[in-house]
Amino acid sequence: LHKPSQSHIVMVPSPGIGHLIPLLQFAKRLVSLHALSVTVAIPSDAPPTKTQKALFTNLPSTIQPLFLPLLSFYDLPKHTKIETIIALSVTRSLPFIRDLFKSLIGKTHLVGLIVDHFSTDAFDVAIEFNVPRYLFFPPSAMSLSFAFQLPSLDQIVSGEFRDHPELIPIPGCIPIHGEDLLEPAQDREDDAYKLLLHNCKRYRLADAIFLNSFPELEPEAMKALLKEEAGKPPVYPVGPLVRNDCSENGKRAECLKWLDEQPNGSVLFVSFGSGGTLSSAQIKELALGLEMSEQRFLWVVRKPNNEAANATFFSDENENEASSFLPEGFMERTKNRGMVVSSWAPQVEVLRHESTGGFLSHCGWNSTLEGVVNGVPLIAWPLYAEQRMNAHMLTEDIKIALRPKKEEESGIVEKEEIAEVVKSLMEGEEGKRIRGKMKNLKNAAERGAGEDGYSSKAVCAMGMKWKKTMMSSQNGYEL
Ligand code: UDP
Repeated sequence: LHKPSQSHIVMVPSPGIGHLIPLLQFAKRLVSLHALSVTVAIPSDAPPTKTQKALFTNLPSTIQPLFLPLLSFYDLPKHTKIETIIALSVTRSLPFIRDLFKSLIGKTHLVGLIVDHFSTDAFDVAIEFNVPRYLFFPPSAMSLSFAFQLPSLDQIVSGEFRDHPELIPIPGCIPIHGEDLLEPAQDREDDAYKLLLHNCKRYRLADAIFLNSFPELEPEAMKALLKEEAGKPPVYPVGPLVRNDCSENGKRAECLKWLDEQPNGSVLFVSFGSGGTLSSAQIKELALGLEMSEQRFLWVVRKPNNEAANATFFSDENENEASSFLPEGFMERTKNRGMVVSSWAPQVEVLRHESTGGFLSHCGWNSTLEGVVNGVPLIAWPLYAEQRMNAHMLTEDIKIALRPKKEEESGIVEKEEIAEVVKSLMEGEEGKRIRGKMKNLKNAAERGAGEDGYSSKAVCAMGMKWKKTMMSSQNGYEL
């Protein structure tokens, strides 16, 4: 598999489907443009889920997944935040990554280590073996701009960011309330924050940073990032990298067949990513709001969770009986224009389907990009991670999403508000305006990914560099 004449890359994605998906897309892009092979070394504390396994079917033979030995986190306190576990998964896998490097070094021309935003501890292994190291950053340009800013914000702002009386400035972005910053920045005493800061500081150790966004989508943030600055690695926009592969196990899902029967652009797709869950009260209100809107909808429903908004982040939830937690009679009343799918839908295919005309999303960055490349207007319903930052940028800055408001006291988005926003997106003037803007972005994304696009150019330039490195090491001299 690893031809000795080929350059080889090791990738280390941190746990989470939303991290694995774009990194695998990047791996596919690399091997499609260069004679390269890639080992994707996956740290985890559990055997691969059904969804993870599906992602590894139909990969080119030059991309090899390697599930690293399982980790245990029994020593961590019960309420350890998910971001801490994600980052520690990589730190605790360092001995396995080191063994992998040892085994590859003699056999292949190892030209780089590529990690994601939680995995910079793995840079230490690359440094030890004198291998170039790169960061692949799955979220937005805004998030990366914030990440570069965090070490100085940490010095300047005292107390919690959410209590800071002024808006937080982020270069190239519209300023944001501290309470809308990403989840681990909400409690500065917590390990999740310390690890966030630790990783952000280490982004500067990268030889280059690949960013899953594109200039037309985030022009100002991108400008700020592309500005050269001492000590800051060059940033290459390589997005939007989204899946284009289809049906798991070859069967066409029922919901796609249902979409075939609906009029063009008439269906609102409702999904909260791989980990998103709503409270029982909110699920009921959303159901009633969708019903009141009188629009067609396809809804990926998960069992309610009143404790956490990211309850299924690490798990493949089993099918559940949606009728047990949706309002009584809802399924019957909406059966002619709505469909409910349990836990997981083939999202990329749904968004690509011509019947889909809107996307109510938790604003995970992959979901956002999948909406954009298919020109589908958004309703922003952020839940966890950096999704409030994404929602803020999508609604207030680039204006391709509408955002329903929560009732202040209950923290619930009520049915009347949901119905109004849904109608406005699907039938109103606002929706029309957003649809037009989305169309332009869709075209720009296609141009960027094309042969002459900046994304392919960046990947090609990097590939040439790796080839040169390999040839010089074959000839016995260093560049
Ligand atoms: N996804 C899917 N079906 C679902 C839910 C999610 O295919 O029912 C995919 C979605 O297409 C996206 C990824 O899972 O590629 C979720 O990533 P995102 O960054 O949007 O959110 P996260 O799950 O990381 O919060």
